[in-house]
Amino acid sequence: MIDDRDPCPCGGATYGSCCAPFHRGRASPATAELLMRSRYSAFALGDAAYLRTTWHPSTRPSPLDLDPRIEWRRLVVMDSVGGGADDDTGEVEFRAYWRAVPVPGRARDGGVLHERSRFRRDRGSWLYLEGTSLS
Ligand SMILES: [Zn+2]
Repeated sequence: MIDDRDPCPCGGATYGSCCAPFHRGRASPATAELLMRSRYSAFALGDAAYLRTTWHPSTRPSPLDLDPRIEWRRLVVMDSVGGGADDDTGEVEFRAYWRAVPVPGRARDGGVLHERSRFRRDRGSWLYLEGTSLS
């Protein structure tokens, strides 16, 4: 469980002032980068419902299964193109650092997901379309 006063998984100051309003449906991310950050936080918190809601219907996997053995540790946004208030498309490149839940007797696995994601605005809301893996 995360408290609103805890640091936001995406790197924001506090969860309550960063991604929580998006996850609770009280606000909609104004930019593609904010949506991307809120989706990273949703992965970190295991919020599959939010990930489904913010995934473009044309590319949304069904079912959407999160791997509980993966811990998302840190997000670094490398680049952001478009995705602003006056755009209908946007791209965000990021690195997401993960590690596997420890397994007794085995070396702990971990790595970096380096992806360039594409987003589209649909009826006012930013949605994740697809990503290209760069790692
Ligand atoms: Zn956040």
